[in-house]
Amino acid sequence: MAFTTSPDGVAVIWLPNAFLLVALLLNRGRHAWMLLLTVFAEVAADIPVFRWYEAAIISGVNITEVFITYGLLRCLGVLRLERLESQVRFLVAGPLIGAFIGGLLGAVVIKYFHGAEESYLSIARVWWFGDALGLLVTTPLLLSIFHHGKVRSLVVRRDYLAGYLALIAVLAIYVSLIVIYKDVLLTPAILLPPMLYAAHRLKLGFATVSVALTSLTLAILVTAGVPLFGDARLIVGILHAQEFIFIMSIMSLGFAVLMAEIEQHKYQLEQRVADRTRELAQLNQQLTLMAQTDALTGLLNRRAIFELATQDVDRCLRYGRPLAILMLDVDMFKLVNDQYGHQVGDVVLARVGRVLQESLRTSDKSARYGGEEFIVVAPEANEATASELAERLREIVAGQTIQAEGYEIKITVSIGFSLLRQGDDFAQLTKRADEALYLAKRYGRNRVEKA
Ligand code: GH3
Ligand code: MG
Ligand code: MG
Repeated sequence: MAFTTSPDGVAVIWLPNAFLLVALLLNRGRHAWMLLLTVFAEVAADIPVFRWYEAAIISGVNITEVFITYGLLRCLGVLRLERLESQVRFLVAGPLIGAFIGGLLGAVVIKYFHGAEESYLSIARVWWFGDALGLLVTTPLLLSIFHHGKVRSLVVRRDYLAGYLALIAVLAIYVSLIVIYKDVLLTPAILLPPMLYAAHRLKLGFATVSVALTSLTLAILVTAGVPLFGDARLIVGILHAQEFIFIMSIMSLGFAVLMAEIEQHKYQLEQRVADRTRELAQLNQQLTLMAQTDALTGLLNRRAIFELATQDVDRCLRYGRPLAILMLDVDMFKLVNDQYGHQVGDVVLARVGRVLQESLRTSDKSARYGGEEFIVVAPEANEATASELAERLREIVAGQTIQAEGYEIKITVSIGFSLLRQGDDFAQLTKRADEALYLAKRYGRNRVEKA
């Protein structure tokens, strides 16, 4: 981490702790012994600046910091950072509490063992901020890359390619301008708009990478002595850089997560609307069917046959095609009711309905017209076919033996039919069929009459 650490050992961003934390989060605390390896690595890295026991205590402080953060995150139930709420909890557990405690402990070592010149609080503050930023910038990135031990495609995505190229170009231009125009103040704030735009357009995976790359670039520039925030002492420059990286990180990452959540909500909402619409359409269909159907016989009801037959009548009139209407009435039905009861009467009506359903062509329509009256609309039927059809229906009904409530019942129907004439409408057709039916009744029932 030497390139993000100033000559007197002050880190702008301290990254290793995030690696430890992510290792713990991904393994849920298992294989914690592997941390020993990182202790050795850290002691080895610190040796040039610190004495061996100082280095050992410093790594102990770092590990304490990581374990405090990990413990807090476990208590808060945070293992991933893909929701705004878990990001906020992470911010509190890691950068705010874990790094703060690390800063207080670490400053003791630097001030009282190592004998640094800065005040205790000033050292503690820089340690705190450096660790906080390291956690803030690196943890989401590492979690985006590694997931359940596999490298995730969250960061490596084809549609991010243009974004990455643009990001590298923006950073390269920024650094070049700073190098070329040393004396002109180019505040890093100009990096914010493109980063926020990218966080909005692309997803969290991209935002984690862009935050990490930008932070690293700024940290390297600041520790190399470039006065990014005007002519100030190095330590002040570092504080400014830390402040800026902090703002940039929480804005970019928060924005990306917020967008993802909004999208998720939108998706769920759309899904729910689609479900509801489907349910409503089904319900509507059921209702339409119910509104058209006679409950007892399952045939169309009077209103439905009126609509459908009117269309048939219009069409046949327009094309000069024949059409016949048959009116059926159960003979002496009142007797059935009186003799066997209403229930049996209902069974008889249902049977007539079934006979009609089973005996007609699909182009013919039948309906229950009234109590024990039925109607058949037969497009394309001329006098011969209509009379034939009526006769056939009459015979089928007469041939039925209906069993209900232990009785065996025979019934007959009388039928009157009418044929379509020029200038007719459905009402006139039914009126003539009704008159024919009346004739059939008068001439002795169980017979067919033409209007
Ligand atoms: P006709 O041969 O002259 O047609 O004699 P009918 O007895 O069939 O004629 P009428 O109009 O006198 O009687 C029809 C009976 O049908 C009267 C009514 O109680 C009965 N009815 C009407 N709707 C229903 C129903 O839904 N269920 C039952 N069981 N009976 C019904
Ligand atoms: Mg009747
Ligand atoms: Mg009758």
